[in-house]
Amino acid sequence: MERNLISIVVPCYNEEKAIPFFLEEIRKTTSEMIEKYDVDFEFLFVDDGSRDKTAALLRTYAKENTDVKYVIFSRNFGKEAALYAGLEKARGDFVVVMDADLQDPPSMLPEMYEAVMTDEYDAAAARRVDRKGEPPIRSFFARKFYKIINKISQTEIVDGARDYRMMSRRMVDAILSMSEYNRFSKGIFSWVGFNTKWLEYKNTERVAGETKWSFWKLFKYSIDGIVAFSTAPLAISSFLGIILCFISCIMAGFVVVKTLAFGDPVAGYPSMVCIILFLSGVILLSLGIQGQYLAKTYMETKRRPIYISREDNCDG
Ligand code: UDP
Ligand code: MG
Repeated sequence: MERNLISIVVPCYNEEKAIPFFLEEIRKTTSEMIEKYDVDFEFLFVDDGSRDKTAALLRTYAKENTDVKYVIFSRNFGKEAALYAGLEKARGDFVVVMDADLQDPPSMLPEMYEAVMTDEYDAAAARRVDRKGEPPIRSFFARKFYKIINKISQTEIVDGARDYRMMSRRMVDAILSMSEYNRFSKGIFSWVGFNTKWLEYKNTERVAGETKWSFWKLFKYSIDGIVAFSTAPLAISSFLGIILCFISCIMAGFVVVKTLAFGDPVAGYPSMVCIILFLSGVILLSLGIQGQYLAKTYMETKRRPIYISREDNCDG
């Protein structure tokens, strides 16, 4: 039987400090696995338009190691695009997706491989069971996000799920067939289906460099996730519209009766202002929600490529 090839896809954005640690650390695990399971590895780094020396570093590593491949983007396209490029270029029978900062412990790889090598699972994925080392306010909003999106979307988004996972070739091909421009990986991984084994672990802090996620970026990312995997917000405006019609009918009846009984003195200017402000708010909110979907539709219809590669060493 031919040896299985495992591709390890690593998106990198300004990770010159982390990559040396990463390679050193992960090689400990992979060399054990090569012995134990009779498999081969390739490392596929995707440089997502880094501004530091990440690209140069990758070229050097690739020169010295035949199992190091790289794709270098023409600019920063975001982690989702980098993941897509990595999956596209990976040749492995199994493909691992992991971060460069060692927050995804390489020690989980053997366990993942044991799950996917049997035909029972097509994916083995890591799930954080705590959020230690994270600002409490961020954890709070993260938990709320998972609650909301799971209520309004048919696609299950697992709380604490990392992108760190090993997948079979079938699953990777299924993911690649989803060539949408607005990519929300957590949703895509779940949408394609297949059996996933969840492995739990405790949060670890990054070895070097710093996180690329500000609170605001995460917030925008969560809105993208909701828009990509649920159309429920679109129903909000019709729902509010129905409720408001109902209330206004009752109020109209009330006003008619009151006028007949007590005449019609002019009054209630402040309450008018409140009502107008409230309704304008509702209208703008509904318009905004529709705008979000329109914007995504607009971007999809342009059919722009998900990433543009400057160079790679993947065919050779
Ligand atoms: N990353 C990327 N492009 C970006 C932002 C991040 O390729 O625009 C990579 C980054 O280099 C890292 C991974 O995505 O390997 C996760 O990023 P980070 O560690 O900053 O996120 P966190 O672990 O804090 O969620
Ligand atoms: Mg990280």
